[in-house]
Order: sequence, then structure tokens, then C-alpha cells
Amino acid sequence: MAQADIALIGLAVMGQNLILNMNDHGFVVCTFNRTVSKVDDFLANEAKGTKVIGAKSLKEMVSTLKKPRRVILLVKAGQAVDDFIQKLVPLLDTGDIIIDGGNSEYRDTTRRCRDLKAKGILFVGSGVSGGEEGARYGPSLMPGGNKEAWPHIKTIFQAIAAKVGTGEPCCDWVGDEGAGHYVKMVHNGIEYGDMQLICEAYHLMKDVLGMQHQEMAKAFEEWNKTELDSFLIEITANILKFRDTDGQELLPKIRDSAGQKGTGKWTAVSALEYGMPVTLIGEAVFARCLSSLKEERVQASKMLKGPQKAQLANSKEAFLEDIRKALYASKIISYAQGFMLLRQAATEFGWTLNYGAIALMWRGGCIIRSVFLGKIKDAFERNPELQNLLLDDFFKSAIDNCQDSWRRVVSTGVQAGIPMPCFTTALSFYDGYRHEVLPANLIQAQRDYFGAHTYELLAKPGEFIHTNWTGHG
Ligand code: NAP
Repeated sequence: MAQADIALIGLAVMGQNLILNMNDHGFVVCTFNRTVSKVDDFLANEAKGTKVIGAKSLKEMVSTLKKPRRVILLVKAGQAVDDFIQKLVPLLDTGDIIIDGGNSEYRDTTRRCRDLKAKGILFVGSGVSGGEEGARYGPSLMPGGNKEAWPHIKTIFQAIAAKVGTGEPCCDWVGDEGAGHYVKMVHNGIEYGDMQLICEAYHLMKDVLGMQHQEMAKAFEEWNKTELDSFLIEITANILKFRDTDGQELLPKIRDSAGQKGTGKWTAVSALEYGMPVTLIGEAVFARCLSSLKEERVQASKMLKGPQKAQLANSKEAFLEDIRKALYASKIISYAQGFMLLRQAATEFGWTLNYGAIALMWRGGCIIRSVFLGKIKDAFERNPELQNLLLDDFFKSAIDNCQDSWRRVVSTGVQAGIPMPCFTTALSFYDGYRHEVLPANLIQAQRDYFGAHTYELLAKPGEFIHTNWTGHG
């Protein structure tokens, strides 16, 4: 008998937690997993005493569902998603819905959406962020795909999503085809940027200001009461003060070689593909790559000299505040760049994206959640056509307020030989973006000189000219 509101396939950490979250909100969930024994284990343990139903086969799972049938896949991204779709299609009817909640590549989502549309199945690719804790108690959800599915899943999705402010859900319809997974990908890229910016602040505190870990923890705690109030600043304070079983701080013992799963890289690749200068995320990805060359760096550290110790232009307290402001200004640049990429992708793919709603989706439930995202939402609400966040009055004056500090930090850090790829690229971007005239006229002349690529004159836009630079025939 059809009794389940929704099915979820994939009983790893994300699937289990999302099922329990849906159960908490009164939805009856039927679950299935490739390794079927995990269904019984789950029902006997984590889901004991809940209304969750287990199925031993996909056929049995589908038979328990109310119509239109709703099936969430939370399995390893890639082939596993295609395999399950292929097995599900013959069991479903026109108008039934398949939702992929994994970290799928947005192009795969677009392909699946088109293939399934031709078969009468509504496909949704939804970004799910917030890790296992988010999945359990309120993730950020970014659904996109076939919009006809949205009225049938909206109630469940918005019920289980994180809430902010007066109960606004961190979940709304993102856009057509791969839009949900694209927005999730950019979210992950921004997460890379936020993390690297915090690392650069930590490096400056440690090596320029000579601060101890407990002292740095206090600074981050203080910063968390300012515009920087966010999950990542909060956990950084906790990490800095965390002591190992031997009573020593754990952080300095951790090998300084960062891992990555690929979504930050995808964002940077996409930025290159669509010609958007998303420099901060790119640098954040490269910073992880450089960190992973640990053995090579150990060798180089014995051979390559840095500068003499830099002199602080002002007091320790004042420079600490400068670092905070440099971090805030750089973060504004990173989000401005991220939204530039979203805007360009929307043009490329014909998506209508609601940028304020996207900021709200990231405002809670996910790793980049912060008070700051509320300000971004406000900016896009004030002006939905806003060309660039930097042109919004709030962010313009925030940068004005931070600018002197930001420049002091970058110049002091450079003089001290501290690598700050994201602080510096953010400032270079800002200076590039605000320049009416850049030296690209010389690039055009060089291109024309060696390759007859032509150039335009400022006075005659649209007219492409070639000059014989050498006078040779
Ligand atoms: P996962 O380790 O990515 O995947 C494990 C699940 O996929 C298991 O149910 C497994 O079944 C199934 N699976 C793996 N290969 C399969 C195949 N070839 N055919 C059929 N089923 C297969 O699990 P997860 O960490 O819970 O993540 C689920 C999805 O959410 C992933 O796309 C992940 O990237 C995304 N995500 C994860 C997080 C996180 O914090 N972990 C956050 C956001 C999004 P068996 O039990 O039979 O092996």
C-alpha cells in the first residue's frame, strides 16, 4: 500500500541523516541501499522507533510511494547516479520525480534532466550543503532542474532546510537543468576562498605578530562578534584552542598539506571557461596545491632565502585590526567574484537566477553560513539588477572603511615574505576593477605587432585596425 511520502536511496552518512531529518518533520520515508543489509542495520539502529520504512528492492521501494513518486538519490556522484536512474526509470510513471542530492557535476545534471524529460520523468539536481550535521538538522538546499517538480517537493525541502531570521528556509528553486548543482559548485569554491583567507590571517598573526594559539583563538572569538560572524571563524577559534590528549595544542602538529575533493577546482575551471576573473577561488585552489608539495617545500626552505624581518608600521593591536579588515575586504571581493560567475553562467545557459535567494540559501545550514550573506541578500533585494556587489552602497562603504588596513597588511606581509595569495589577488582585482584605463592597450599593440590580430582605437570603437609596426612590407 502506498504510504511513503518520499524514498531515499543511499544509506551513507548524508542519506541516513537526511532521512532522520525528514522523519522529524513528519514525512514517511522509504529507504533502499545497494548493499541491502545496510537497510536492516539502519532500521534496527539509527532509525529505530521512527516511521522510516525499509525496502529490499527498488521495486518494493517504488510500490510504497504515494504519487507522484519522489525518489532522492544520495549516492556517490558519477556512474552510481546513472546506474540508479537507469534501474528506476522502468519502475516509474510519467510525472514521477527523481532528485539527485549528491555532489554531481552540473553538466551531468543537465544531461540527466534532458534525458529524463524525454521519458516524462521530472529530474531535480539539488545541491545539499552542511555536511552530516546539516543533513540531520537543517542543510542548505539548492534545487534546480525541471521546474514542474518544484511544487511537489517544495514542502518537504523547505521543511527540512535550515532556517534563518524569522524562520526563512535556506532553500528555494534555483533554476533550470544544472543550475542547482552549479550554484552548489560555486558555493564550494567560495568555501575554499573563505578558508584560505582565514589561513592567511592566521599566518600573519603567527609569523608577523608572533601570537600564541590561545591568543589567536581569542582574536577569532572577538572577530566572530563583528561583520565576520560566521561558522568558519567560529570553528577556527575552537580549533586554535583545542588541546591534544598530551595537553599541547593540536593544530601545530597537523601536517600542512591540504586535501581537496574537486569542487573548488571545478569552480576555477568554470571561471576560466566563461572568462570571469574569479581570481580568489583560483588562488585558493592553487594554495592547496602548493601546500601539498610538502617534501619539495622542505627542500626549498633550506635553499631559498626570504627577506629580513619586517617592521610593523603601527602597534600589534592596530595591525591585528588591520588583518581583520583585510580579511573582510578580501571576503567581499571573493563573493563579488562568485556572483559575477553566477551571472555569467546564467547568461551562458539561459538561467534566470535569483541572486538574493541564493544568498539566503547560503545564509544558514552550510559551511559558508554567515551574517555577511544577509547583507548580500539585502543588496540584491535593493537592486535585483545589481551588476556587481562592489557597486552596492553598503559594500562600497565597507571596502572604503577597510582599504587602508588592507593595503597595510598586503605591503607588510609582502615585506615580511608571508605568502598571501588570496589577500593580494583580492586587492589586485579591486584595483583592476576600479581602473578606467588598464595597460591592456599594450597587449593589443603587441598582439597586432607579432600576429596582426588588430586593435580598436578608443575614438573608433568597433573598427578593427592593423598597423605595420616595423615599416617592412
Ligand atoms: P558516499 O560515500 O559519497 O557514497 C556512499 C553511498 O553511495 C552508499 O550508499 C553506497 O552504497 C553508494 N554507492 C557507491 N558506489 C555505488 C555504485 N557504484 N552503485 C550504487 N551505489 C553506490 O556517501 P556520502 O558521503 O553520504 O555522500 C553522498 C553524496 O552526497 C555524494 O555525492 C557526496 O559528494 C554528497 N555530499 C556529501 C557531503 C558530506 O559531507 N559527506 C556533503 C554534501 C554532499 P553501498 O553502501 O552499497 O556502498
